[in-house]
This record gives sequence, structure tokens and C-alpha cells, in this order.
Amino acid sequence: MVGAIPEVTSHEMMCPNRYAVAALIALLWTIANPMQAQQRDAFRVGSIEAPAGQMASGFLEIPAGVDEGTEIPVTVMNGARPGPVLALIAGTHGYEYPPITALQRVRRQLEPVELAGTVIMVHVANVPSFLGRTIYYSPIDGKNLNRAYPGRPDGTVSERIAHTITTQIIERADYVVDLHGGDGNEALRPYVYMPVTGEAELDAAVRGMAVAFGVDHIVIDEGRLVDPTRSVYTDQTALTRGIPAITTETGQLGSNDDHWVDMAERGIWNLLRHLEMVAGKPEIETAIVWLTDYQVIPSPATGMFQPSVRDGYAVAEDGLLGVLVDFFGDPISDIRAPFSGIVNYVLGTPPVSEGEPLAMVSRIVER
Ligand SMILES: [Zn+2]
Repeated sequence: MVGAIPEVTSHEMMCPNRYAVAALIALLWTIANPMQAQQRDAFRVGSIEAPAGQMASGFLEIPAGVDEGTEIPVTVMNGARPGPVLALIAGTHGYEYPPITALQRVRRQLEPVELAGTVIMVHVANVPSFLGRTIYYSPIDGKNLNRAYPGRPDGTVSERIAHTITTQIIERADYVVDLHGGDGNEALRPYVYMPVTGEAELDAAVRGMAVAFGVDHIVIDEGRLVDPTRSVYTDQTALTRGIPAITTETGQLGSNDDHWVDMAERGIWNLLRHLEMVAGKPEIETAIVWLTDYQVIPSPATGMFQPSVRDGYAVAEDGLLGVLVDFFGDPISDIRAPFSGIVNYVLGTPPVSEGEPLAMVSRIVER
């Protein structure tokens, strides 16, 4: 281990004592055994411990509290060489499958002996939502995990999951990626949220990650939060702690089709290359559409939605996005675009409750 080798000062080299001799032996050992010199400490998350150059998988337990408990499947891949700690979190919303499947593929292909640094994979952050096949909300407490951060140890199950991920994973990472897709009801054109904090160094790191992921639509997210105790979102939990983070969106409508899985997987490999954790260069889109001022359009009433646009469509200001109808099919209201821009996603299945999203629209940034 490099850190254990006593420092050799010029004074000690001039006047050899037993420490200097020990240091010299350590130095020669280092030169003769480069792999040994790079031996790193084990990395432990909960009870999951991976020695350097190895992988370990297991569960973080969320014990029962005010409601029932659950567990979070996690893999720790600890590289043989030094490097950053990258947290990849899938399944925050349990109906968003492509990133979950992509992480399983990367786990099979990534060789820890060839990895620089440590990858923490959260395979399914929200197991109750995944097994319960629910969109947005946990079937246990009715909460949205991506609004529950940083969580609390004595809260409901979503809050306890958030607390565990915050303290055991996010706060130990150098980079965080929250991997989403269109939820089971969302027809979504793939994009990455690139948060902006106003801190130059942090923003440069976030921008590097957003571009490296390799999806050609990037939504600039200026909804900055500053209080780490009220971080609400996964990415803001990292950012309010000074850790670069992005949220990615690949997939839609509950599909686990290879097309979407490939896209999520390519993004993960791109990030590993960008952060120099594996060899190679990321495949970066040359023509990125930069988007801003994103607006989520809430439903004015409960009923059924009939979209007249598709994900990725360009819309004019006041252009028709769709029609909200009641249970008999009679129109309640037209839903129109607040400004001209791109449809990031639109509701792709009929049911909607008052206040739930019908669509998200962003302005194109002219550059
Ligand atoms: Zn999501």
C-alpha cells in the first residue's frame, strides 16, 4: 500500500537509519511489484464489502419502522487501481426498467481488476415500487422517493430508503448519477437533466458528466436548492453536499426493450470512460439540443388524457398538446403548450388525477 511507505527525506538518505532502510526496501518492493503498489483498501457499504480488485453484492436492510421495511440490492465494484467513487442509482422509480437492466449488464461486463476507483451500483432503490409495479409513488407510504431526500431514519419507508442512500452511498461518492426513464405512463424523448448551481467548479464537473452520458437532449436545470437538509431530489442531495450529479432519462412507458437498455448502458460506459475509471473515450453526441425553462404541465382535473403530440415533437406557443376528457369521453379542457419548444414527455396512457403531470415542455436554447 503506497500510503504505508514511510516518507524518505533527503536528510534520511544522507544519514541512513533503520526507517530510511525500511523506506528504501519498500521503494524497491514498489518498483519490483507494481500491482502490489496499487493495492487499495476494501470498500464497504453496509455489510457489503469488496476488497480491491473485487466485486461484492448484497442488500442494505431497511428495517420496519412506522411502516413495513424493505431492502436495497447493491453491488460494490472496487477497482484494483485508485480513482473516484461513482454512485449509479437505478430504480428510484420502480417502473423505469431500462437503467435497472443496464446496470445488471455493466455488472457482468466490468472487470474490477481493470477498474480505477469504485462503482457503487444501486440496482433497485425502490423495491416496494418495483415489485408493486407502481409509477411515481411507493405502494407502502404513497410517497415519491425522488421527493423524499435526504430522508430520515424515523420516517416512512420512502424516507428511510432516502436516508440510507444519502448517508451510505451519496455522501461517500465523488460523482452521483440518478438513472431514470419515462415512468410507466410517460412517453419520453431521452434527455439528461444538467443541474446548475452557480459554483463554477461544480458546474463544470456536472456539465462534463451530462455531455459524456451521450444523449443528444440536455435540459439545463436551474431549480437550484441550497439546503442539504431539504434536498428533495437525489441529484440535489449530492449537489447540496458539493458532489457533482446528473439525472438521466432513457426509456418510456414501462418498456424494457433493448433499444432503451442499450442507450442507458452506453451512457454508463461513457461516464466510466469520461471519469477515466476505464480505458477509452466516451461516444459523445456532436449535435446536442440544449433545453431550458422546462415546465411540467399539471392536469387541471381528474379524468383521461388524449395526447395530440408525441415525445420529442416541436410545439408552437399555445399549440395543442392534447385533450382532457371525463370518464364518458366528453371534453373537460384543451391542454396547450405554454411556449414554443420541445415535448420532453407526454402522458402516454389515459388515467390522470388532478395535479399530476400531463406533459413536460422545454425551450430550445439558441446558441
Ligand atoms: Zn423517474
